[in-house]
Amino acid sequence: MTRQISDSVPAYIREIRLALPPTGAAPDGTIAPELTQLGANENPHGPSPLAVEAARQALAISNRYAEDNGPQLRRELARRHNLPIDQIILGAGATELIYLAARLLLRPGDAGVTSHGSFPLYYIAIRSTGARLIETPLRDYRFDLDAIAQTLSAETKLVFLANPNNPTGTMFAADEFDAFLARVPDHALIVLDEAYCDYVERPDYSRAIDIVKLRGNLLVLRTFSKVYGLAGLRIGYGLGPAAMLNELNKIRGPFNTSGVAQAAALAALDDREHVRHSIDTNNAGLAQIAGGLKELGIRFVPSVANFILAEFGYDTDPLSEELAKRGVIVRPMRALGFPQAIRVSVGTRAENDKFLTVLADVQAPFARRKTKTQTTKR
Ligand SMILES: *Cc1c(COP(=O)(O)O)cnc(C)c1O
Repeated sequence: MTRQISDSVPAYIREIRLALPPTGAAPDGTIAPELTQLGANENPHGPSPLAVEAARQALAISNRYAEDNGPQLRRELARRHNLPIDQIILGAGATELIYLAARLLLRPGDAGVTSHGSFPLYYIAIRSTGARLIETPLRDYRFDLDAIAQTLSAETKLVFLANPNNPTGTMFAADEFDAFLARVPDHALIVLDEAYCDYVERPDYSRAIDIVKLRGNLLVLRTFSKVYGLAGLRIGYGLGPAAMLNELNKIRGPFNTSGVAQAAALAALDDREHVRHSIDTNNAGLAQIAGGLKELGIRFVPSVANFILAEFGYDTDPLSEELAKRGVIVRPMRALGFPQAIRVSVGTRAENDKFLTVLADVQAPFARRKTKTQTTKR
């Protein structure tokens, strides 16, 4: 057989399987406007109007390259986080920085660590470098920092932690993280992904930015995709040691974030009302969905983020398909390590209602089948 160029791709890349989320898109790619999209943890209220206006103005001069690495946005972020500007890097979403960190530090023979039951891009980023992926189990749906610390060795160059974790919506406290950090050797970079930090209002939550000022091996990731409602514009940022960001800057593409995205992000930071409204309605939505699930007798993991992991006790692929047929998109969790769960994002009050109503409608036959199989087994 003739060799194809894909045969020249390293086996460790060919072996990666992508699990793309259901979008509810028609075969021609169009998405019906009446679809209830609760599959991707997006902000259901849209972007800030200030961000939209700023993006519109930036769009008018998009024949020009924006200034590389968005100094204006980084200056504002530096001011807000009280860090020097060279400790901030922009990415086309936090995900670009996840991939870049892996590419910078990992080679075959190295090890990258994270938890099973977390964000799939960590696994892909590690495996795409040829490094060994080490996954510890979650404990009570939470990152088990003690188990992760026990895996650390001379080969470990990178650790991915999500706080809050996606898809479980759980968090670890600042004190737990401090105790963990004390056990991490200086040659291993901790990538602490705080994509959902804005939703967390617990007093014992992260003080990671303060630690960035002290430690040479912590990279904190933030994004404009969630509470700021700019997922489609692809912009996020990292806060870390200047020397390491200097190396990252060599391997990222020039102009990796657009001027439109930078302008929108800058304006979004100023719209405190939009952020406040998003957080308040999210809190109400979490309670609404939790209450509805309880009424239906469905177990779920209490969440501090903008989504809830619900456990059904049976394979949820068919259930998710049935929900999608009725216009409600949620995320079946097989690919993320929970074959009997779905993750539902918090939407508007009406969207949450729609989800709960349709779920009540469609779940009964699946649940009955489960009871039957259990009886036959006995
Ligand atoms: C949504 C999400 C991100 C953000 O990704 P972007 O590339 O910024 O859109 C990062 N990490 C986790 C765990 C997420 O769920």
